[in-house]
Amino acid sequence: MALLDGKTAVITGAAQGIGFAIAEMFAHEGARLVLGDLDLGAAQAAADKLGGANTAVAVRCDVTNSSEVDTLLATAVETFGSLDILVNNAGITRDATMRTMTEEEFDQVIDVHLKGTWNGTRKASAIMREHKRGAIVNISSLSGKVGMVGQTNYSAAKAGIVGLSKAAAKEMAHHGVRVNAIQPGLIRSAMTEAMPQKAWDQKMNEIPMQRAGEVAEVASVALFLASDLSSYMTGTVLEVTGGRFM
Ligand code: NAP
Repeated sequence: MALLDGKTAVITGAAQGIGFAIAEMFAHEGARLVLGDLDLGAAQAAADKLGGANTAVAVRCDVTNSSEVDTLLATAVETFGSLDILVNNAGITRDATMRTMTEEEFDQVIDVHLKGTWNGTRKASAIMREHKRGAIVNISSLSGKVGMVGQTNYSAAKAGIVGLSKAAAKEMAHHGVRVNAIQPGLIRSAMTEAMPQKAWDQKMNEIPMQRAGEVAEVASVALFLASDLSSYMTGTVLEVTGGRFM
């Protein structure tokens, strides 16, 4: 039996990158999927790659909009009959040092990561507690553990996701709902490929394993936290970093 047979998972920001890699791995393990993304066309193309309507459906969802998050989660129940797993993955960067970062850039990043993860976590919890089971996986970042230059917005949001996940884990444990977080380090994706070569090289020097991670290497940890393999774990933060800043 596959690890996620009979389970329905919702993933935000699932059209590409880490979110899509998680969707692919979950589908391979038998899950049915609801893929949320800002770009409906891209989310639909991702759902088609996973086998179409029997396996995956696409929904346009901006995670900062709480009623769109409601619609996303309701789609899982209406289409596949349950909501068992939520991965709060959607993300953006608006990097700049404090001297040049605008208030708008600060607010945008806090909104997508922190408010978006809060929207997903609280709304999924409300559904999952009724069924006395569920697993929520929140994608933080190593940036939220150590703080990165040019990322006062992103580091604050990603550290906030750790506190949010632990508080939610405490509130939900006795309802059978587990909440855990992942802190990826430098992972190859559209987000990091936009980085200047100098910044990439500097980060590589900090990684004991001497390479960037692949999106599938984050997805396998998400699978572990979403499945019963981690049935006695809640409120944890797993680092997927090649040993960087251990
Ligand atoms: P990515 O390739 O840029 O994918 C992010 C996805 O999120 C995109 O499909 C994007 O949609 C979507 N998105 C952005 N804003 C959204 C919103 N308001 N509502 C819904 N979806 C939204 O980035 P990634 O590297 O896969 O990152 C995924 C997650 O991992 C993020 O939370 C990121 O912070 C985290 N992370 C990444 C790394 C890394 O090295 N890559 C390291 C640590 C943590 P559009 O493209 O349509 O805007």
